[in-house]
Amino acid sequence: MTKFKPTGRPNLPQIAEKLNLSADQIIDMQAVSAVLPFRVNDYVVENLIEPTDVPDDPIFQLTFPQRGMLDEVDYRHMRDLVVSGASQNDIKIAANKIREKLNPHPAGQMELNVPKLEGEVVEGMQHKYQETVLFFPSQGQTCHAYCSYCFRWAQFVGNSDLKFASKEADNLARYVRENPQVSSVLITGGDPMVMKTSILRRYIDPLLKEDLPNLHSIRIGTKALAYWPHRFVEGEDADEFLRLIEDVKAAGKHLAIMAHSSHSRELEPDIAQLAVKRVIGAGAVIRCQAPLIRKVNDNANVWAQLWRKQVQLGMIPYYMFIERDTGAKAYFEVPLIRAFKVFNEAYNQVSGLCRTVRGPSMSASPGKVLVDGVTEVGGEKVFALKFLQGRDPSWVNRIFFAKYDSKATWLDDLKPAFGEDAFFFENPVQNKSPKTIQKP
Ligand SMILES: *Cc1c(COP(=O)(O)O)cnc(C)c1O
Ligand code: SF4
Repeated sequence: MTKFKPTGRPNLPQIAEKLNLSADQIIDMQAVSAVLPFRVNDYVVENLIEPTDVPDDPIFQLTFPQRGMLDEVDYRHMRDLVVSGASQNDIKIAANKIREKLNPHPAGQMELNVPKLEGEVVEGMQHKYQETVLFFPSQGQTCHAYCSYCFRWAQFVGNSDLKFASKEADNLARYVRENPQVSSVLITGGDPMVMKTSILRRYIDPLLKEDLPNLHSIRIGTKALAYWPHRFVEGEDADEFLRLIEDVKAAGKHLAIMAHSSHSRELEPDIAQLAVKRVIGAGAVIRCQAPLIRKVNDNANVWAQLWRKQVQLGMIPYYMFIERDTGAKAYFEVPLIRAFKVFNEAYNQVSGLCRTVRGPSMSASPGKVLVDGVTEVGGEKVFALKFLQGRDPSWVNRIFFAKYDSKATWLDDLKPAFGEDAFFFENPVQNKSPKTIQKP
């Protein structure tokens, strides 16, 4: 088996040989990856990508930079710099300019959702929905390989003031203690499973103490089951992780692995299936989520197959997301109506056990908004939308309507139906809800 190289840029000549890439394709990759993060490993290249299907192969699209991810002018500019052998510094300056145009922090992540302890901002945490805190351990802000559409891409391009990071595990436990409405901690990144178990344990152990009765569950968001399943299978560190799961269970908490699961092919290798088996065997539940991405999984049969495979392996389908408004969104986006149709067609062909999945959902500034259907009300064609999560908890499960728009790809593109001026959540003053807006 090939050994994993955890750091460093991908060895393009070596990969090019394995995947039969042309010289032009390599230059495209160099140009695009100067702007957007690129990391892949031998496991992904050798086990998940079908070389004869490149460039259309879904996992190739998932992990490799593609020319269409930059707009034509930016692409040409970067390509010229690369071909002419420009200095690293010139390339960096040009790349930074392009990055600024790509909405590095969608949904107000830098200004909103910032938790405080005694009036001081707590680094490395986000608290948007009352019951769940997100925690970004500083050593977990990278991944085994990068998804080319990643909405956290700004964290990976080496601009440290763009990072969420935390040095302090204690602050997390303290914050949970002082906020009894919090029942769930979601450890995320990047990918927390890039950390050694001993480091992960430093964050988790303080959460298992008896003085946090409000905390019911700990979740770990990861794509390691797809990109590096060996993490759960081989060696002492893998076994230690299973012990950690057992310890969380023994402390009376639920442990959920929130698996980023984009394509059924990720679950086909024996080692991936063994990883799933070991994690579930140790007492964790695996819930699966992924965005719908053009060229990766914008196909109903792919999702149906994915959900079936997940259920077959004992995993639980959880969310289908709509790609966020950041990075190379123009390359990956699909109209809301198409996302809805893909979801519906996939949902229709699977058993009820797969229908624990919810979506397609937009993680937008006011909350998680489900595109629940298209219908006609009083002769007007509308989208029926619903809050799955809301910045104001009273919005949860609330249904609202937007004018049908076949081109809309995000909540911001939508206009209220029935000639109204604004959606109810856009004008908190007139909002009938008795509660004020939740400002964590
Ligand atoms: C999705 C999400 C959560 C978790 O929501 P659940 O519906 O409980 O899975 C928490 N915080 C943020 C910011 C999220 O986007
Ligand atoms: S695994 Fe998640 S955080 Fe890492 S690159 Fe993919 S989408 Fe981004």
